[in-house]
Amino acid sequence: MYPAPFHYSAPTTIDEAVTLLASLGDEGRVLAGGQSLLPMMKLRLAAPAHLVDINGVGGLSDITVNGHLHIGALVRHADIVDNDIVSAASPLVAATAKWVADPLVRNRGTVCGSIAHCDPEGDWNSVMLAVGAEVVARGPDGERTIPIGEFVVDFFTNSLRPGEMVTAVRVPTADAHTGGSYLKLERKIGDYATVGVATHLRLGEDGRIAQAGIGLTSVGSKNIKATDAEAGLVGNEPSAELFAAAAATAAAAADPVSDIRGPADYKRSVVQSYVARGLTEALNQIRGN
Ligand SMILES: Cc1cc2nc3c(=O)[nH]c(=O)nc-3n(C[C@H](O)[C@H](O)[C@H](O)COP(=O)(O)OP(=O)(O)OC[C@H]3O[C@@H](n4cnc5c(N)ncnc54)[C@H](O)[C@@H]3O)c2cc1C
Repeated sequence: MYPAPFHYSAPTTIDEAVTLLASLGDEGRVLAGGQSLLPMMKLRLAAPAHLVDINGVGGLSDITVNGHLHIGALVRHADIVDNDIVSAASPLVAATAKWVADPLVRNRGTVCGSIAHCDPEGDWNSVMLAVGAEVVARGPDGERTIPIGEFVVDFFTNSLRPGEMVTAVRVPTADAHTGGSYLKLERKIGDYATVGVATHLRLGEDGRIAQAGIGLTSVGSKNIKATDAEAGLVGNEPSAELFAAAAATAAAAADPVSDIRGPADYKRSVVQSYVARGLTEALNQIRGN
């Protein structure tokens, strides 16, 4: 099917894009990699009146480290795979990229587009929720940073204001006290997750857990931050029993539906197994096992 008719603009600066988006209001939509938006337009699930293509906007393809890992809005999933800067700054982000879709989609689709899209089956927002990333947005009133937990509102819904676009995502950098993993169950390579689980741990000098993050994919109307499970970990010494308790709490926070990828109970039990396994992997990374 062909998309509904639309207007198209290709600004070359962020200011130009933001001015255009502000003037268009609900009629305007950012086009980044087009890997989610264009299929939705062809299926007539989306019919934006005006596409604002940001692919010609300068300064959005940067991957830099300056207190945090900065991933610009035009960084493609493929740019993250085997990227030395990302591997050093956030091994978890580096390891996740290869789980997103297939090489063709990874070559065009952007990390920030995926974050903005807020598809509960998308992989990136679970990782960003686990590590506590921030989204950088620019709009008619200037720039602001939005904690990822506030950015992800619900099913395909983010908290951008009219006229705003995402310019980057900022990820806290990892160190020797940090570990994390992204575990994804998929029916075949390139498929969306049946279940995905991101885990992140930071140990304090006393060996206790100083920071814990758990993000869940494909088990709710949005990517879920398992806050109760995280809170149960912080301040405690890591152990198999502690991880098992956190896994049970995270599974209780999941709200999967039965579909072609499996029954809800099965998905919830995968969450439980993957949280325990992911936390163990994160701990092993920190301990060098
Ligand atoms: C066959 C196939 C398999 C896939 N498998 C997976 C998978 O396994 N895991 C996964 O996570 N994803 C998967 N995807 C989705 C893919 O990761 C997309 O790249 C991603 O969801 C959207 O990124 P994009 O740059 O293509 O955004 P677009 O399609 O251009 O835009 C998507 C939405 O985000 C908005 N948007 C984009 N960029 C910005 C911005 N800078 N500021 C504000 N709004 C913005 C757009 O307006 C639109 O509403 C798959 C896609 C396909 C086609």
